Amino acid sequence: MQEEILRGLAFTGDGFTPQNVEIVIENGRIAEMTESKTACDQWIVPAFFNAHTHIADTVGMDTPIDRPLADLVAPPNGLKHRLLRETPPDRLVSAMRDTIRFMKATGTLGFADFREGGPDGVDLLKQAADPSVDMLIFGRDGGEFAAGGFGLSSAKGTKAEEDAVRLAKQAGKLFAVHAGEAGVKDIDAAFSLEPDLIIHATHFSKAHIRETADRDIPIVICPRSNWLLGATDDAQRPPVREMLDAGCRVFLGTDNGMFVAPDMFAEAAFLQTVYKIDPVDILRMMTDGFSLLGKKSRIGVGGSANLTLLAGGYPARWTKNPPVSLFARIGSRGITRVISGWNTNSL
Ligand SMILES: [Zn+2]
Repeated sequence: MQEEILRGLAFTGDGFTPQNVEIVIENGRIAEMTESKTACDQWIVPAFFNAHTHIADTVGMDTPIDRPLADLVAPPNGLKHRLLRETPPDRLVSAMRDTIRFMKATGTLGFADFREGGPDGVDLLKQAADPSVDMLIFGRDGGEFAAGGFGLSSAKGTKAEEDAVRLAKQAGKLFAVHAGEAGVKDIDAAFSLEPDLIIHATHFSKAHIRETADRDIPIVICPRSNWLLGATDDAQRPPVREMLDAGCRVFLGTDNGMFVAPDMFAEAAFLQTVYKIDPVDILRMMTDGFSLLGKKSRIGVGGSANLTLLAGGYPARWTKNPPVSLFARIGSRGITRVISGWNTNSL
């Protein structure tokens, strides 16, 4: 039996309540957790789930954003699609592997990726996989049948699109779609396809938010991507506060690897600073995407020991509000170790 004891300020339970604790890990699970009298400058957070990525886009890292959004990323001839087609398969695998390694090193132990390139594209991502990082692939152009889901770039209301979604659902696949990123035109068509997951919702109205909440469709917001790509320049868009108040399930994602580093701590700091969202709500958004895989990421007895350890440094001595300081002061540069259940991976 593998056993290990950790001590530190852990963000525990459903409320991510900061508590000084001693945690006993046995065989990849949290077997015991007791309150500790002694404060410790090690901080412990649950593993994050990056709910929307396009990690193959790493091959175009930090390409200048010098043209409209559609010319950059829309299929079939946006710049990213040309780059993906021109890149040899082994380079794509290498880029995706590097990005998965980076995500893991920054506390992300699960992600949902939109993978282009049909079944071959899905196969390349599987070659890049790390078994200690959960992966939900949304394929397209036939790739959905080799993946966990079907990811549609944007709904246009065509018969072909409807047929593709129906076939994917019949095969038991999840269906995700970008909607309301740059405007409102694709939102009604997206709703009519009855998605399991909506990406962006940047320009959702109150009625759209109400409908999403009533139908219990989770929304993945990607705020840094929206700002960088010009989908918004307003802290009310995406309407994150309204989504939370309406009872929507909201997940956090970093979107396109060309333009945004898939560092969930950096995404969280942006959301906290620009949108003024409570850090406890943000922690929920950073972890609840695991529900897409039927999993839960919380620190509590019986839970998986998927944990990130951080050096709290001087904020650990001075903070009056650890959840705020976690993103505003510490961030991913504080990470000392990422523990993935059975596999303990020191950085
Ligand atoms: Zn996307």
